[in-house]
Amino acid sequence: MKKQEELYQEANKPIENSRRNFIKVAGIGLAATTLLNTALPSAAHAQTNRGDQAIDETDPVKLKEINDASEKPTGAIPSALRPAKRIGYAIVGLGHLSLNQILPGMVKCKFSKPVALVSGDAAKAQKVALQYGINPKNIYNYQNFDEIKNNPEIDVVYIVLPNAMHEEFTVRAAKAGKHILCEKPMSVSSASAARMIAACKKSDRKLMIAYRIQYEPNSHQVMKWTRGEQFGKVRVIDAFNAQNIGDPEQWRLKKALSGGGSLPDIGLYNLNTSRFILGEEPEMVVASTYSTPGDIRFKEVEETVMFQLFFPSGAISNNTCSYGIHESRYYRCNANKGAHFGVDNAFTYNGLQLKLSQVQGKMELKSEPSLGPEKDQFTLEIDHMSDCVLHNKTPFTPGEEGLQDHKLMEAIYESARTQRPVKLEKITGLDVFRGTRPVEQQ
Ligand code: NAD
Repeated sequence: MKKQEELYQEANKPIENSRRNFIKVAGIGLAATTLLNTALPSAAHAQTNRGDQAIDETDPVKLKEINDASEKPTGAIPSALRPAKRIGYAIVGLGHLSLNQILPGMVKCKFSKPVALVSGDAAKAQKVALQYGINPKNIYNYQNFDEIKNNPEIDVVYIVLPNAMHEEFTVRAAKAGKHILCEKPMSVSSASAARMIAACKKSDRKLMIAYRIQYEPNSHQVMKWTRGEQFGKVRVIDAFNAQNIGDPEQWRLKKALSGGGSLPDIGLYNLNTSRFILGEEPEMVVASTYSTPGDIRFKEVEETVMFQLFFPSGAISNNTCSYGIHESRYYRCNANKGAHFGVDNAFTYNGLQLKLSQVQGKMELKSEPSLGPEKDQFTLEIDHMSDCVLHNKTPFTPGEEGLQDHKLMEAIYESARTQRPVKLEKITGLDVFRGTRPVEQQ
């Protein structure tokens, strides 16, 4: 039996040492540093190998069940990878999403950990690094960002910047040999999204778009009911996503940084969730946009978009997104056999509620089925990316998924501009742009 101290040392042994050992064994010797950045062909490539060679989830701790068998089981105790073997993330941009959701979500991950920060504000980055136990030597700014290529602790770059900056940092991260998790919307145009995919392919790096709803258990349940025709065929999905946006100076209202208004920011959830639930791709869109005349917030981008997506199965997704009304986020799938179902608070971070209204005999029963304790969507999404890096899988929401949304948003704007329906390329099959289904959903 190994002593506790030995086990501790082993668990915390820096990965870099194992890699150096590997290089020595291979007879490559002292040129390790150069080789890590060239012949391997990069430090990050070697880290992918780390996953292949050395994944060892610790045995889960087991506790005795304390409740009667008639009670809900408490479930398995989470079992995490030892810290030294988790996938290391550099978070780029320390704004609202990074500080309120991503970093708190990441500390609950089993396969992922924050190891570096990239920010234009050194003092803020120092403070955040202290809070999350990140080595201050792993703080970068937007100018020296490319130096991440020399940092083997970083496996994945998580881009959480204004939309128009996603392409630049994806391309730079791929060149530095790192995998990329990029916030939605993927970019500001389909042309830009295509360039991001090409850059990641060229460097043989994974690219995932952070569509958290596709990792969220309530929407997953809705997807299963819909595709399994549990209540007949879903004919109409009604989706609403609105918030009353404030500060007129923020980047979301500057077209050059955002690419558009409520559509790419929040209407994208309606669009992407409908596509996820049905698994199909729309063949036609009809849309209109509206901005209140004189409202200084909407000088450059639109306030409200209404759009319908027509799918090959005959299903229609009817959507409203707006920056000008009080927060309201829900969707309903209306089926043809005595039921409608969906999610309230649908696109928010927490407080999501599954809703089912079902005819049974002569009664209509309304229920809020519970899927158990709420899970952090960011934790699920980030650990999926890490699982893909560790086991060399294609992410469920790869760049191609983001590119398709950009093409559809462009069609939506075109329809609104021309006041005509826009026909789209016919795409047959289900989930054609998606990769490996997350483990939790298998
Ligand atoms: P934010 O404004 O709070 O943060 C943006 C960060 O980028 C800030 O730290 C800012 O300093 C930095 N930055 C660097 N250059 C900048 C520039 N030229 N102009 C403005 N800021 C600059 O924004 P956020 O809400 O954190 O959003 C960041 C990204 O995350 C966006 O792509 C957004 O669409 C996405 N997002 C996703 C979700 C989600 O649920 N998945 C939620 C909110 C935001």
